[in-house]
Amino acid sequence: MGSVASPVVQAALNLRPSLSESTGVFTDPSSDEFKTLMQRWSDLDVKEPAAILTPSSEEDIVQIVQHAVNHSIPFVSKAGGHSPWSTIDSSGWIVDLTRYTGIKIDIQAQTATVQAGVITKPLNQAVHKAGFFIQSSGAASVGHIPFVLGGGQSWMTDQLVSAKVVTASKGLVVASETENADLFWALKGAGQFFGLVTEVTMRVFPIEQDILSWNCIFLPHQIKEVGQAIEKCSSEDNVNSPGVVIIIQPPGQTKPIIMVSTKHFGTEEEALKAMQPLLDAKPVQQIKETVSFANVTDSTDALNRSGGIKRQISCGMRSFSAEKLEESLTQWNQLVEKHPGAAASFFMFTWVSTEAMSKVPQESTCWSHRDCGIWRRQLTKKSMSFVSGVDEESATAASESAESFLAMCQKDQSEAERSFFPNHTRAHKLEHRYRDAEARKRLRELKSQWDPEGFFTRQFI
Ligand SMILES: Cc1cc2nc3c(=O)[nH]c(=O)nc-3n(C[C@H](O)[C@H](O)[C@H](O)COP(=O)(O)OP(=O)(O)OC[C@H]3O[C@@H](n4cnc5c(N)ncnc54)[C@H](O)[C@@H]3O)c2cc1C
Repeated sequence: MGSVASPVVQAALNLRPSLSESTGVFTDPSSDEFKTLMQRWSDLDVKEPAAILTPSSEEDIVQIVQHAVNHSIPFVSKAGGHSPWSTIDSSGWIVDLTRYTGIKIDIQAQTATVQAGVITKPLNQAVHKAGFFIQSSGAASVGHIPFVLGGGQSWMTDQLVSAKVVTASKGLVVASETENADLFWALKGAGQFFGLVTEVTMRVFPIEQDILSWNCIFLPHQIKEVGQAIEKCSSEDNVNSPGVVIIIQPPGQTKPIIMVSTKHFGTEEEALKAMQPLLDAKPVQQIKETVSFANVTDSTDALNRSGGIKRQISCGMRSFSAEKLEESLTQWNQLVEKHPGAAASFFMFTWVSTEAMSKVPQESTCWSHRDCGIWRRQLTKKSMSFVSGVDEESATAASESAESFLAMCQKDQSEAERSFFPNHTRAHKLEHRYRDAEARKRLRELKSQWDPEGFFTRQFI
């Protein structure tokens, strides 16, 4: 005698006949399709849902959400599967959006309309083919819509023109400056807590030139000189030359290296000027190449691989210093000496121009880190760690070490200045993720209108 399906499984099966043929309803965890759909960027805390539904049209997405809401079935949406938040246990469903992947580019209006399952690289390729670039994530398979909804580093969300959203209280609605403007404001930084966004229309920008990528490798004994060089490179003058410095142990090696990776959006002379402090610090190896926007994420493919016990976390910084870089290397060495299984973890600092984001008024989005004084006219500095372990013990140690690394990076910040980017954490205090008290109040009010029962998380309830 076959086993009886749970009511949550049965509810998914009941919905099957009213969905289009190309939409999938998967309820057997032992099937190959179910297993493939369960693959994610990190295996940390992954749970097994009662059902995975893979809608292939907006009508099906609307039906699925309404059915779940009407029957009080918990669900999470999943696009690129890079976050720890798109997993749910057998009490609920995953709405896997990876079959809903249309991209439409309007050359006249200079916009791209992007459906919910679109990930970074195919999007970059499509807009590049049309002669444009778009603000997109740094890794090939991050979902574009979740990346925009969490705010990125603000200017991603600043490029949102409109969105179509399935909400718990009012079904499918459009949100833009002129329609449901309050909801539109909330989507720009806290969007995942207000509904399932079926598509977004984003501004795109004509491509003027390819990007010059310039990577330098240094050895641990050069850490002080590298730190001092980055203090100069990440200064106000180099707004067209964002970069990242990473402490990382390459596969097969037994010691870490310090890798500095920069991208240049100006002339070759400007790039050379921006790079001079790093070149003076004498890298043991350097690679300089021109990359097209379509392939701009290729250099991060190693970070982007699925599977393994991994976690990503970041914080905003008031200032970068050579001393902090040295301290990070010490912390990395201590971690890996005690827990060799954590050797694939890395600590990094990024710096990016805030010129564009400082032009947008703070109150136009709920992403609340652009007011941070020192960022306004300087380059945003952010420290980040991607930690991993080969087993639970080393993964836990790596995770604790990441928290100490961020605490060290923020040691010169007051409580009010501490900031964690919403795209990378929900574990830290709301006051540090949404730093503006007025914005938090407004988000709570909006949550009570659009999702009072918390179908799209209980954040802001
Ligand atoms: C390797 C790597 C690189 C990254 N690079 C960057 C970067 O360059 N810049 C940056 O800002 N962030 C970056 N991130 C963070 C990333 O933007 C967030 O983790 C983002 O939420 C991941 O989206 P996803 O679709 O891959 O993940 P998912 O886990 O599929 O989704 C993330 C969240 O969004 C919800 N969601 C999914 N689809 C929808 C939808 N259509 N409507 C509403 N909610 C939805 C999910 O339920 C979940 O809560 C990176 C993360 C990793 C691991």
